[in-house]
Amino acid sequence: MLTSQFQQAVLNWFDLHGRSNLPWQQDISPYRVWLSEIMLQQTQVATVIPYFERFMQRFPNVQALAEAPLDEVLHHWTGLGYYARARNLHKTAQIVVSELNGQFPDTVSQLCDLPGIGRSTAGAISSIAFQHQATILDGNVKRVLARYSATEGWPGKSDVVEKLWLIAETLTPYERIADYTQAMMDLGATLCTRSSPNCVQCPLSESCQAFRQGNPQDYPGKKPTKKLPVRTTLFLLIADDEGALLLTQNPPIGLWGGLWVFPQCETLDSMPEVLRALAIESEGYELLPPQRHTFSHFHLDYQPVMLTRVNSAHIRANVAEASNQVWYNPRKPLSLGMPAPIKALLENVSSVAHK
Ligand code: SF4
Repeated sequence: MLTSQFQQAVLNWFDLHGRSNLPWQQDISPYRVWLSEIMLQQTQVATVIPYFERFMQRFPNVQALAEAPLDEVLHHWTGLGYYARARNLHKTAQIVVSELNGQFPDTVSQLCDLPGIGRSTAGAISSIAFQHQATILDGNVKRVLARYSATEGWPGKSDVVEKLWLIAETLTPYERIADYTQAMMDLGATLCTRSSPNCVQCPLSESCQAFRQGNPQDYPGKKPTKKLPVRTTLFLLIADDEGALLLTQNPPIGLWGGLWVFPQCETLDSMPEVLRALAIESEGYELLPPQRHTFSHFHLDYQPVMLTRVNSAHIRANVAEASNQVWYNPRKPLSLGMPAPIKALLENVSSVAHK
């Protein structure tokens, strides 16, 4: 298939089957495209839609986002994971407002200078919002092109991804660039899916090499398996008389940076020291079922520890003075950014805390 035939096949398919009702496809603007692209990194469309809508309601433009406290941005991100995305979103909004007069740049290289915007995201913004001939290569497009060209190897390796970039760039048209960009993403998301590619309906099947070989699922190559290391921690669940639980805010940099979490310690032996530092008195504790949360590069095994007979009058006075501590009542939630495991634990233990 010639390049022009490839482009035409993709666009014809898009006209009939592409998605055009996604919220970020309405009232297209650089801000909306940027926000949706950042949310869509690592996250499925169906999950992103309600987050996008709530985000747009609260932060309708880049100025509103730049002016908002980071904590509120993180709160609106709670549950989406990969919180560095939200912190970078906030930083980028502030740069766009303070240094770029509120206007997003339109070229890939300028967009790539902004925090959290990589080559593919920059290509998506430049092509969809500004109609520039720019190329994307997100996870969906990598899969389509790896199969189409039967490119071997894991796209996390630089030589493999560079081959795919070259193919992607060669195929990118000048005309109808926004539709083409959306079409390639849609093809990967709806037709050339990870586990069951629908080759019979695919406009590229005629010259797709993996289809001809009969092994689309072998592409793209898998990441070499590596056993993830395990880290452990104890979450200290400290409840007051009303069932509110003590949360502390992490420093802005590092794991779960800027998010609200339970006080932690490494072992039960080190717990008295942590409690002393928080000026907390407790007469006992109960171990709740241990759980695991998996990050991209390690597992976190956490043991929730429910402290009992806590002297809450004493600690309430101490917490009132600290800006990085708060009593969080799950029945009267505050707008705080917190990681999904902490949110789930809060919901699960609120009834225990009331006993
Ligand atoms: S023919 Fe099949 S494997 Fe090839 S691009 Fe289409 S859906 Fe994917």
